[in-house]
Amino acid sequence: MSLFPTYARYPIRLVRGKGSRLWDDQGKEYLDFMSGLAVTNLGHVPDRVRDALVRQLDRLWHVCNLFHTEGQELAARLLTENSCADAVFFCNSGAEANEAAIKLARRYHRKVLGNDRYKIITFERSFHGRTLTTLTATGQDKVKDGFDPLPDGFVHVPLHDLAAVEAAVDDRTAAIMIEPVVAEGGVLPVEDDFLRSLRELCDRHGLLLIFDEVQTGMGRTGKLFAYQHSGVEPDIFTLAKGLGSGFPVGAMLAKEHLVPAFSPGTHASTFGGTPIAMAAVIATLETMLELDVPAKAAEAGEYLMRRLREETRDLPNVAEIRGKGLLVGIQCAHPVADAVAELHRRGLLVVTAGPEVIRLLPNLLVTREEIDEAADKIAAVLRERVAGTVG
Ligand SMILES: *Cc1c(COP(=O)(O)O)cnc(C)c1O
Repeated sequence: MSLFPTYARYPIRLVRGKGSRLWDDQGKEYLDFMSGLAVTNLGHVPDRVRDALVRQLDRLWHVCNLFHTEGQELAARLLTENSCADAVFFCNSGAEANEAAIKLARRYHRKVLGNDRYKIITFERSFHGRTLTTLTATGQDKVKDGFDPLPDGFVHVPLHDLAAVEAAVDDRTAAIMIEPVVAEGGVLPVEDDFLRSLRELCDRHGLLLIFDEVQTGMGRTGKLFAYQHSGVEPDIFTLAKGLGSGFPVGAMLAKEHLVPAFSPGTHASTFGGTPIAMAAVIATLETMLELDVPAKAAEAGEYLMRRLREETRDLPNVAEIRGKGLLVGIQCAHPVADAVAELHRRGLLVVTAGPEVIRLLPNLLVTREEIDEAADKIAAVLRERVAGTVG
């Protein structure tokens, strides 16, 4: 095959999707509890986003960022009116959004405050992307293997260990960066108290607080943005995955005091905020706001976790069901790759978050019937594993 073997792909070739369902090239139907890794938050081919994209395809595809565009202005207005941020930079992916956040944090200290703080504290098990800088920010060794020398200026500390964070702060520290729910690293919701303590620590030491909401944003956790659960406002946060309902787009958002740090010529992206991407973002946000999709996700998430707990109560191999909204993890007492493969064979698409966690990411409009169907299949496979009839 003429593709780089960068992905350990499942033996399924998907060709079509609608709502919660996907079909492969054999015509087999799947219930999708992955959503392309928290991307298709409104389900596959959501009508309103599709119609907006079709209209935009007939109107304008691309202009460079040396011009104003209606799309960027409206998308940025929707994002800032519905969040704590005052300004938006559009890009194309989560890694690129985090890269922009890191650059903004460094440049703010250098040029606006006039100091030489550059270090960023991040957390063990975090995931922030695959560019050289964002993989350095990531708190997992496996993504760094063979890529050194890595950029300087990143320190990793254990999650929920405030003393370790305080000990890591020195006179070169610029920012603390955290996922409000550590997603790829095992679906670990961060305690509100810990986020509050980080905010206080940042305020006390003049540090910026950066939230990586690439996976937790866009309604996934039951609020439009996960920081809204704790009430702790970051100085900078990043979005990508669900932002365009599947159209590739990312964003870095920040509060007003950071805006002067990115003056003309300091940062750019050719495709960032292209009219087609903006049509997807606007239609996605309008749908989420009008239908109150985050509240639906909160309710569906409660129901999913309750059903999973009921179905697996007597299973010794299920250690914990945890999560926020529809970002849910099933912590098992054994590797779950075989169970995931078996679920795929039975028509339910789920993914892992580390070796022993099954991660569930249904779309945010998932129905109770679909949740029941998924919970039944998952419990059956995990039960068979206990009984020894399945890997
Ligand atoms: C997926 C993800 C990223 C990277 O996003 P890409 O679009 O793949 O670059 C960064 N941070 C978090 C929390 C993610 O889940």
